[in-house]
This record gives sequence, C-alpha cells and structure tokens, in this order.
Amino acid sequence: MRSGLPKGYTLGVKNDTQLSEGSGPATLEQIHRLFESAVAYDSALTLLKGFKVDFSGNPDFHKVYLAVRCTCGTAGLLSVEVAMDKTLAEVEEAMPSLLGNLRVKQRMFSSMSCEMHGRMRQGGL
Ligand SMILES: [Zn+2]
Repeated sequence: MRSGLPKGYTLGVKNDTQLSEGSGPATLEQIHRLFESAVAYDSALTLLKGFKVDFSGNPDFHKVYLAVRCTCGTAGLLSVEVAMDKTLAEVEEAMPSLLGNLRVKQRMFSSMSCEMHGRMRQGGL
C-alpha cells in the first residue's frame, strides 16, 4: 500500500523576502536610524542621508556619512564604515566604538583653526 507523499520532501518555505529586524544583516536604513538617534542632540554633527558617493570603493561595507560643522561655516565630511554582514544587534553593540572613532575625527576638525578651515574650503577639500 502506498503511504502518500515521500518522506523527507517538504515544500521550501522562503522567508528571505520578509524584512527581519534583528536577524540578518542590517540595512543601511537601519544603520542610519542608529546614527540619527546617536547624534540627535549633537548640533555639531549631522547625518547625511542619501549621500551615495563612495570614496573608498569598498563594496563590503555600508558607508555612513556625517557632516561636522564649525561656527565659521566650514563643514567637514566624516565617514563610518560598517561591514555589510553585521546584524543590527551587532551594529548596535559596535556603536560606542564607531561613535568613538567619529568623535576623534570630529575633534581633529574642531581643533583646526578657522584659518585652516578657510584654506580647506578654498582647496576644495
Ligand atoms: Zn572654523
């Protein structure tokens, strides 16, 4: 007597189309949200969304760009790289060190004299 469907055969259920929070690699949008809330109360730093220029050309990393502004009107561009395979939880965990790097770059920019900022602007850097 036949016993119906062969054992071991299951219909593949794909769930890779659903947007998962927490599991799976974090999207750039999710990373943006993290940085956005991290610099929300920091008037010196602005998250640049939709800034798609890729200076490093490294395809395995999400790039997050932030602008740091000086009172003289000069803005410096800061970038943070996050590995594409990081989950949102992993990125959250790495935020303190990512922000730490950002603060170091921000301080470097802030410690420059405005005379130097002016030169940077003229030099197009
Ligand atoms: Zn300045």
